[in-house]
Amino acid sequence: MPEPLIDTFGRVHNNLRISVTDRCNIRCFYCMPAENVQFMERAELLTFEEMEKFVRIVAPLGVNKLRITGGEPLVRKGVPVLIEKLAAVPGIKDIGITTNGILFAEQAQDLFDAGLRRVNISLDALDPVKFREVTRRDGYEKVVESIHIAKKIGFDPVKVNAVAIRNLTEDQIIPFGQFARDTGVEIRFIEFMPLDADNAWEREKVLFASEILERLSADLMPLVPLPTKDPSAPATDFEFEDGVGRVGFIPSVSQPFCSNCNRFRITADGKIRNCLFSLEETDLKQMLRSGVPDADIIAAVRASITAKNAGHQINSADYVQPDRPMYSIGG
Ligand code: SAM
Ligand code: SF4
Repeated sequence: MPEPLIDTFGRVHNNLRISVTDRCNIRCFYCMPAENVQFMERAELLTFEEMEKFVRIVAPLGVNKLRITGGEPLVRKGVPVLIEKLAAVPGIKDIGITTNGILFAEQAQDLFDAGLRRVNISLDALDPVKFREVTRRDGYEKVVESIHIAKKIGFDPVKVNAVAIRNLTEDQIIPFGQFARDTGVEIRFIEFMPLDADNAWEREKVLFASEILERLSADLMPLVPLPTKDPSAPATDFEFEDGVGRVGFIPSVSQPFCSNCNRFRITADGKIRNCLFSLEETDLKQMLRSGVPDADIIAAVRASITAKNAGHQINSADYVQPDRPMYSIGG
């Protein structure tokens, strides 16, 4: 049995996030520029076969959890085919997707039939006007429809990711809490991270998890923490005290979860990244396309994991934002 992917801080990496495209059909201000985005050329993207090959190489190292992301993963044609290929790789136990939900409803059954079960749908506002303010596009109704369809088809869990932004989405906190209670969908509030294309992030815009928790508890109903099932999960989960409705928090800025991180990533153009915030990458595509032995690819993955920092530096004056914004890394 090969050694698992353990870094110098003892963190075991079993969780791979695969970005399938940097393209997107909306323009969330905290991720993409409003216009004139320079997208990757098609030939630069890893093919589904290359992604599958990589997963077959790393699965024996203990990688058993995958998440498909982007850009918006569902703007790339054939994602159900990719899911089917990945679900068939021995050792892969769990495949999820993170999507903005615009195209999810129309592909949901095919994705489910391909073996996908976990879905996170991103929605920052339960209001079409505010949705447009954040995303600079229309599509609110489609996203809400996708959430309901995901539940109806039987995806489990269905979670909603909401980036919380001060002076913009405070008024969405209580409606989201109520939505969680009414639908059984877990709402996960994510703190705004400095990974936006416009470099406009400011600490003052981060709506902290603790404030959201306080507001929900005071104005809706007290929340009680749920026992942690998976210590490497980024979200801390709560339930309303009457047992109806769950809310999670991803406090990446105020309480980074780096010490339990088990993730690494490949970008759509085939670079291995050991962290969202990493300033370095390893060129996997070049290795795959030049036909190097699998052992060389394994060595490169191990080197990348070994080089992983203890944590991100968002809270330090020395923080350097990566050249790639979120949509290009794969969130
Ligand atoms: N397009 C898909 C979506 O939006 O769900 C998948 C990719 S997106 C980059 C993945 C997640 O990252 C989304 O939930 C999005 O809200 C979140 N995200 C993007 N930029 C962010 C930022 N600067 N800070 C915090 N979360 C961010
Ligand atoms: Fe697109 Fe997702 Fe980025 Fe929004 S967060 S612009 S949906 S990739």
